Amino acid sequence: MDLRLTDEENAFRAEVRDFIRASLPSRIHRKMVEGRALTKDEIVDWQRTLNARGWATPSWPREHGGPGWSVVQRWIFLDELHQAPAPEPLSFNVNMIGPVLFSFGTPEQKARFLPRIANLDDWWCQGFSEPGAGSDLASLKTSARRDGDHYVVNGQKTWQGMAQYADWMFTLVRTDPTAKPQAGITMLLIPMTAPGVTVRPIITIDGRHEVNEVFLDDVRVPIDCRVGDENKGWDITKFLLGNERTGIARIGMSKHLLRRAKALAVQADDDVAAQTRWREKAALIEIELKALEITQMRLLDAMREHAAEPDARSSILKVKGTELRQAAAELLLQVAGPAAARCAGEFDDTADAAATVASTAFTLRAASIYGGSNEIQKNILAKAVLGL
Ligand SMILES: Cc1cc2nc3c(=O)[nH]c(=O)nc-3n(C[C@H](O)[C@H](O)[C@H](O)COP(=O)(O)OP(=O)(O)OC[C@H]3O[C@@H](n4cnc5c(N)ncnc54)[C@H](O)[C@@H]3O)c2cc1C
Repeated sequence: MDLRLTDEENAFRAEVRDFIRASLPSRIHRKMVEGRALTKDEIVDWQRTLNARGWATPSWPREHGGPGWSVVQRWIFLDELHQAPAPEPLSFNVNMIGPVLFSFGTPEQKARFLPRIANLDDWWCQGFSEPGAGSDLASLKTSARRDGDHYVVNGQKTWQGMAQYADWMFTLVRTDPTAKPQAGITMLLIPMTAPGVTVRPIITIDGRHEVNEVFLDDVRVPIDCRVGDENKGWDITKFLLGNERTGIARIGMSKHLLRRAKALAVQADDDVAAQTRWREKAALIEIELKALEITQMRLLDAMREHAAEPDARSSILKVKGTELRQAAAELLLQVAGPAAARCAGEFDDTADAAATVASTAFTLRAASIYGGSNEIQKNILAKAVLGL
């Protein structure tokens, strides 16, 4: 096993780094460095810059407008974005609904949606979870009844990330209430402007409006907005959730948080004992990050051989990656000390950098929940890797 990058891969890394340095607007960069939320326009502009370079859809094959990169190139690209730090292309678009449509969509759906997904002309959100269906997604209750060439959808979804910006929602509905849970589910594409769609904000502990509830009351959805066959949505769901773990370890983000913590410690504390204490704490996280990076390289090396087959061991990356990101954000919070307490709920652009630290740490509390909670990942590891 060779865990080093090849000369070509190192050259690719340099190309990506140079492009980000030259193209990322300084305002977006500053906000990313300080952990501030971006506006919709900033996210759209950056994705369009990447798309103009052919890089907005790292995992897409060339035939569907992607760069046709290897798994290692995709990882290098994401790692450079995380370390810069720069925004990732919108995951709902490029990691979730895009691959679903080029794998399961009709020719009309591909032609209609894929170019707009890549360029963020349409913003998508994910309408899967419901108040009683998160980890146990197959128990979802939102119903869809056929009425001529439409479905009539009724139900409630919850935790829809950035649905307030969305033009479309890919969603799961129950089309056969008599079948066993997984067998009666269908995937539908719902325009957010359709009559009967209501988006209600959920303000989270970090003071941000990122997630929402979505209510669906007698929403009429044309049948050409169904993905795959009726009652066959579960296989597509498994495919989509597998892709959601792309670049899930986000080691570059943890490194960035540690860099911030170290810089703040130098500014905040000139006491030698305190400095030593911070350095020790940072070193412990860095050691674990190094181990995780090696695990990631081992998995990438295996994927070099077997294309992009999902590997249950990637659950290790989700669990450890989120734990370490949370640890790095906690350290940053401790270093900021009382200055972090100035962040009471929502903050604006004028708040100083230390005041954004608490919000970052609170935001990251959710990282071990979404994308499949860490407890569920541990169940997967126990079953698929340890054979328990
Ligand atoms: C910030 C944020 C953004 C989100 N964005 C979206 C989105 O855009 N679209 C969307 O559809 N959903 C989204 N979600 C929802 C997310 O997918 C669910 O929260 C997640 O799957 C957990 O489901 P739940 O909240 O219903 O918790 P539950 O499933 O009720 O779990 C509660 C607790 O029990 C544990 N648990 C559950 N089952 C088991 C088990 N079998 N073994 C061991 N432990 C178990 C869980 O790990 C968790 O700790 C988001 C969530 C958050 C917090």
